[in-house]
Amino acid sequence: MKRIPLSIPHLSGQEIQYVTEALETNWVAPLGPNVEAFEAGIRAYSGAEAALATSSGTAAIHLALATLGVTVGDDVFCQSLTFIASTNPIRYVGARPVLIDSEPDTWNMSPAALRRAMIQAATRGQLPKAVIVVHLYGVVAKIEELAAICEEYDVPLIEDAAESLGSTINGRMTGTFGTFGIYSFNGNKIITTSSGGMLVSSDTGLIERAFYLATQARQPVLHYEHTEVGFNYRMSNVSAGIGRGQLEVIEDRVKARRTIFNRYVRAFDGVEARHYQQEITGSRANRWLTALTVPGGMEQRDQLIQQLQQKNIESRPVWKPMHLQPVYRDVPYITANDMDVSRRLFEEGICLPSASQMTFTEQALVIRSVRQGLIEDVRRNVQL
Ligand SMILES: *Cc1c(COP(=O)(O)O)cnc(C)c1O
Repeated sequence: MKRIPLSIPHLSGQEIQYVTEALETNWVAPLGPNVEAFEAGIRAYSGAEAALATSSGTAAIHLALATLGVTVGDDVFCQSLTFIASTNPIRYVGARPVLIDSEPDTWNMSPAALRRAMIQAATRGQLPKAVIVVHLYGVVAKIEELAAICEEYDVPLIEDAAESLGSTINGRMTGTFGTFGIYSFNGNKIITTSSGGMLVSSDTGLIERAFYLATQARQPVLHYEHTEVGFNYRMSNVSAGIGRGQLEVIEDRVKARRTIFNRYVRAFDGVEARHYQQEITGSRANRWLTALTVPGGMEQRDQLIQQLQQKNIESRPVWKPMHLQPVYRDVPYITANDMDVSRRLFEEGICLPSASQMTFTEQALVIRSVRQGLIEDVRRNVQL
């Protein structure tokens, strides 16, 4: 049986032309025409004023924090339910993450929990230096509400849109609401450069500063003069060539993943009550991964994952929230009330195969296997 993966690269066929160009013109080193064209392409697609191609999405988040001057002793608020690359850069700059719970509609940062955290911080007299909001699995967070709270407290917002390129709300792309937005082009994301990322902003000056930090913080003089510690975080011209070919088909990829999501929803209708991430009014999710909850908790969920594994179908638990990670054991975690929403979503949440090249037959096999697994679960429960 062929393996059905969660998400894998899906080439357009155009990548080879841009990569070959880079090789033939000996433009393999960092920067060059592909990098410039890819940045211009992202600007045009996202509507962001300025864009900086980076070696990864993680590097883009690190640059965002460094450019904002976040440093030792500062606090940064971050959504707890996410991949660890959202929070680690907070540690890179020596700051302390303060983790914020999700709301059950979009599974992203709860505006009520954020407000509560801001009030507490204001009372303590130490507001955070930044807030990192994630659009989990490509589903748009309640970003307008979250941005309004950040604005009220005058705290910069960083949108971790690593998973949500192509997701919009009221026609506006995720990644363009914050002071900074970041995208990732890692191999399993909706489009890829093999490895890479992008930092975007409406503030050209901030992107200029980020460019300087991303290129070893070199002073504009003839010799090599440095007054600050910088990084080597730029994207290569070869990677950017892959990105140009990928960006040409982004809308097709979004359509494909949305179609897959809608088929799952229809197919599981009536099996038992399922909970999916909701698209709030006016929003379009790219549905990078279809995520849903399986009632019954971790045991049931893990059983289903193993049953699928036996049929060579890859599925995964929803990200384990950062406040439950041993490495972030000692950081504050703030919820809207006495419910821990992100813990529950983790315990019951599963991601199903969502690769844009998945065939109808493959999806039918996943659907059959999931239904079978769930029905077996129900029988077991009845017997108990
Ligand atoms: C993939 C991802 C990142 C990091 O991107 P890389 O390009 O892998 O460094 C950051 N945040 C989230 C939510 C991600 O899924």
